[in-house]
Amino acid sequence: MITIGDHTITPVLDSVLRKEPTTLYPTTTAAMWEAYPEHLAADGRLEFFMGGYVLHSGDHLALIDAGVGPEGWRAPSGAEIPGGFMLDNLRVAGVRPEDFTDVIYTHLHPDHIGWSSHDGHPLFPNATYRCHRADWSYFVEEEREDPTARRLLAPIAERFETWEGSEVLFAGVDVVSAPGHTPGSSIVVLSSSSGERAMLLGDVVHCPIELLDDEWATMGDVDPELAVATRVRLARELEGTPTQIGAAHFPGLEFGRLLRGEARRRWTSLA
Ligand SMILES: [Zn+2]
Repeated sequence: MITIGDHTITPVLDSVLRKEPTTLYPTTTAAMWEAYPEHLAADGRLEFFMGGYVLHSGDHLALIDAGVGPEGWRAPSGAEIPGGFMLDNLRVAGVRPEDFTDVIYTHLHPDHIGWSSHDGHPLFPNATYRCHRADWSYFVEEEREDPTARRLLAPIAERFETWEGSEVLFAGVDVVSAPGHTPGSSIVVLSSSSGERAMLLGDVVHCPIELLDDEWATMGDVDPELAVATRVRLARELEGTPTQIGAAHFPGLEFGRLLRGEARRRWTSLA
């Protein structure tokens, strides 16, 4: 858990995807990973954690991203992500679904919306659901090969409020447009009156290495060129600052900081 002024953010795990790093990043080679052993698990595999973050902020209890869901996800290509235990893990943390005032999505890919609804009913019955207007149009209103977003979100459309561009959601909690991975991809920025700052990057990056090496591969981007431009701009903005950085799939959902290095940036975990 981290604290930024009056905000606390606690990661909540849904499931973990473990694969060979060159499987998850098909354009990389084993040799490229040799420079980054600390970003791999002990068995040499890359772990992508799935889940979300619980944000306490004033009167708001918000869930930022809603995991893969109980049944997991199977891509049209056949790739699979295992389903998980997010609601159980929330209960263990002492939070009930009905306690949430807000569900905030960094974007609407299936591994971020899995626990949104069940049989057409919202799983967070008292929450206002929030996403970028451009992702709502792209994933729910338009016909896509993968119907997951439409299936899970269209039945609860009346629960949704959308933002466009960048917006203050509540005091000290901003959503900032970071397009490329998806049209409405957004990051959540938390700030305190004393100038502390944390950022949840969503899937602007999937693994900290993407913040260290501007040339590193990305994955699953709707607009790869724009995604790289967004990522490089953010990495340059963040390097050498005390901003605490989290992202939707970082190992252990841990926060870290981006250090300015001699040859290249370095990542330091705050765990
Ligand atoms: Zn994702």
